[in-house]
Amino acid sequence: MISYQSLRRPGLSAVTSLRMKATTAPLRPSGRLTGKVALVTASTEGIGLAIAQRLGEDGAHVVVSSRKQTNVDSAVSELEGLGCSVLGLTCHVAKGQDRENLISKTLEKFGGIDILVSNAAVNPTIGGVLDCPETAWDKIFEVNVKNALQLSQLVVPHMQQRGGGSIVYVSSVAGFQPFNLLGAYSVSKTALLGLTKAVAQQVAPDNIRVNCVAPGIVNTKFSSVLIENPAAAEKLQENILLGRFAEPKEMAGLVSFLCSSDASYITGETIVVAGGLPSRM
Ligand code: NAP
Repeated sequence: MISYQSLRRPGLSAVTSLRMKATTAPLRPSGRLTGKVALVTASTEGIGLAIAQRLGEDGAHVVVSSRKQTNVDSAVSELEGLGCSVLGLTCHVAKGQDRENLISKTLEKFGGIDILVSNAAVNPTIGGVLDCPETAWDKIFEVNVKNALQLSQLVVPHMQQRGGGSIVYVSSVAGFQPFNLLGAYSVSKTALLGLTKAVAQQVAPDNIRVNCVAPGIVNTKFSSVLIENPAAAEKLQENILLGRFAEPKEMAGLVSFLCSSDASYITGETIVVAGGLPSRM
């Protein structure tokens, strides 16, 4: 049997050159989502914005949202500048009124909903799961899990009206292998794997597919504490087979694929995009 360690060691000398080549090929938009209407939460920067951009480039009408109007405005102008069909709305996912407004304004503008990418998450505390204060636990599970469910409850009737649809939850590799300083957050991300299975089971008869993406460590504001600390970054990268952190756009192509008819027989699955960071339970 080949161990993970024995696989990794010979590759280490190649890691440096891989780091130098950490770029992705220029995008060739597929048009595979033409005419679809896609909601992406927490999509004014980072992974959410990259996903919104990719769905837009692949032909979808995209709705970007987050808490701050200024962030929404700048995301809208960035995506419009790229030729995307885009609507921007403020939506704090933990606010019921904002969630309702997100749905109603989307229907008003685009006439239906085909895709939900539930990307919002918080992590208000650092530490092991046993050290997590109750208020932080409640906030984490509210935003990361409950609001994802509530958004799904809101969009499903509209997807049923369209004869089908696609939901993608954004989890984390930490959902498979908890990060010791992100204890409660990791558990919330594991919960999304279960939510994916449970929702997929319930809506399959409506031709709605539900999948999940589990990113590794991605170069965004969210992970900046890890990435900008040279000692921590170096240690983390030792465990990543590709020897580097991901860029947000490296999460986006998979989401576009999962939302498209190319993935018509995939539901209830979580796909890890972590550059080879150990990820299975
Ligand atoms: P990010 O770059 O920090 O972006 C966060 C985005 O979320 C911003 O647009 C922010 O805008 C918005 N936002 C924050 N709280 C919100 C709320 N309550 N309601 C609505 N929008 C909110 O984060 P990211 O790294 O892209 O993370 C996105 C997702 O990927 C999260 O689910 C995270 O757990 C997951 N993930 C990230 C990594 C990583 O290494 N970065 C790894 C695994 C998984 P406003 O401030 O305007 O609200």
